[in-house]
Amino acid sequence: MANEREASIQKEMAKLRNEFHDRLIVELEEFVAYSSLPDQEICRTETLQKLYEASHRLAGSALTFGYSDTGNLLRRLEGALDAILNQGAEVNVLSIRRQLNVLAPAVAIPSETKKNLAAQSTATESSALAQPMSNSVLLYVLEDDPSTSDLLKIGLSSFGYNVSTFTDIDTLCDSAKKERPDALIVDIEKKNIAEHTLANVAKRLREDGMQALPILVVSQYDSFTEKLEAARNNVVAFLSKPVNIPALESNLEFVLQPQTKSPYRVLLVDDDIYSMEHHRLMLDKWGIMAHALPDPSKILDVIEEFQPDLMIFDLHMPSCTGVELAEVVRFHTHWIHIPIIFLSSERNEGRQISAMMTGGDDFIVKPVVEENFVATIMSRAQRARQLAELMTRDSLTGLLKHTEIKERLGHEYSRADRNKSVVSVAMLDIDKFKRVNDSYGHQTGDVVIATLAHLLRRGLRATDIVGRYGGEEYLVILPDTDAERAAIKLNSLRKEFEKVKFRHKNEVFTSSFSGGICQSDKVKNIDEFLEQADLALYRAKERGRNQIVQSDDTD
Ligand code: GH3
Ligand code: MG
Ligand code: MG
Repeated sequence: MANEREASIQKEMAKLRNEFHDRLIVELEEFVAYSSLPDQEICRTETLQKLYEASHRLAGSALTFGYSDTGNLLRRLEGALDAILNQGAEVNVLSIRRQLNVLAPAVAIPSETKKNLAAQSTATESSALAQPMSNSVLLYVLEDDPSTSDLLKIGLSSFGYNVSTFTDIDTLCDSAKKERPDALIVDIEKKNIAEHTLANVAKRLREDGMQALPILVVSQYDSFTEKLEAARNNVVAFLSKPVNIPALESNLEFVLQPQTKSPYRVLLVDDDIYSMEHHRLMLDKWGIMAHALPDPSKILDVIEEFQPDLMIFDLHMPSCTGVELAEVVRFHTHWIHIPIIFLSSERNEGRQISAMMTGGDDFIVKPVVEENFVATIMSRAQRARQLAELMTRDSLTGLLKHTEIKERLGHEYSRADRNKSVVSVAMLDIDKFKRVNDSYGHQTGDVVIATLAHLLRRGLRATDIVGRYGGEEYLVILPDTDAERAAIKLNSLRKEFEKVKFRHKNEVFTSSFSGGICQSDKVKNIDEFLEQADLALYRAKERGRNQIVQSDDTD
């Protein structure tokens, strides 16, 4: 009886959430629409008041329903409007427009932080494994082979995803109406079953208004024909069988990533301040973060600090040409993946081509057409990010690779030193991991490694940096955090991790990790910083493992 009641409440809650989700999308669209009003229209007290009330109301419910990103953006807008309306602050139309515009990406990706919601509402649905992770993503699997279905469910659950499996598209769509999944995995193996063809699945999703749902395909057939069909039906990833679960999970990470992605960063170099500002504002309007640099000689420091996804150079500048500037930048091979676009009124094609031969990637002629300009920048920046991720991220865990995380540590250490703030570093290592490999095999070992990676990434702040330092060793950088606070955070993740139940055949087992933490102002240099964290980790192991030790705890 109690269960029935609980189930019905859960159902109501899920319905309410879905309704709110739909309303949120509509309301966010209205906010964005305001941004295209003329300045004097936005500045009107009535408009500001209306926006203030709407942002206040919507921020509250967005946060309530777990849409923390959107909620916080709305809160910021509310605060700015409050300052204008009630505290006599000046109206900054540009800033208001910008804040309205940043609500746009959330509109484009309706499922946003649905991970939070999925975790709350399916917590009672017993998945194959107990999942303590707080913000998991809801996945639907369409698969009529029970053993593959089990493999996907168990494998993906161990990465912290909520997985529901279906054997037919009708039941799947009915269920999706109650709770929308974040992504769909379809096996197109049984080509003879008509309703499983991709075209049919895509059609059904369209009919039910779910055309935006990302589809990932797993298939035994992987010729050009199947891939072409996939491409025609908006499939975002295509994996051949047998399914490699860590590879599938990296794809999922990648597909779902835009939800949490920060805006694209573009560096503009131009001696003509007006032209540069004009382009900066153009990009800004579309949610692209642009940094304007009038003095080319400062570029190396600015790239280091600003970390652009893409750079735009004016071709003709008095102190050096855009081509020369590109050559200087290209001396630094670790920035090789950042596209350089030349922007100039140069119409001579020969000169355009020779400019591109020197390390540029594209040429845009001034005056630019806003839509084309922004679209070019967006697609280039997106591609560049994908490449950068492939270069710098470890394929099993999606975390930064060894050299990358060490470089970032150096960066954060110097930054903390400069700003007189502190950064903490944590060295983590899975306990008795050889035993996992020996008892359950290397593949299961890989799932444990990737699961901890997943938990760290999801459990830490966006500003924290996580890398795979070695086989089953991780390095976590926590800016603006002292060792005490870092230890509290990592201890809570440690407790979450020890609860995760892994499965190998019919055996269920758990794992744990130990960690050593050091705080930057306790050491003299970066080598000592790492050394102290490592020593603390060693002490944690010595004291019996499954614990976090701080470097100054030497008893
Ligand atoms: P301790 O608690 O002292 O850390 O014990 P341990 O068994 O974890 O010891 P150690 O750190 O020396 O062992 C790490 C093992 O991790 C050895 C290696 O075979 C295994 N390993 C390293 N990289 C990978 C990987 O990518 N996948 C898998 N499955 N195993 C790995
Ligand atoms: Mg170990
Ligand atoms: Mg080790």
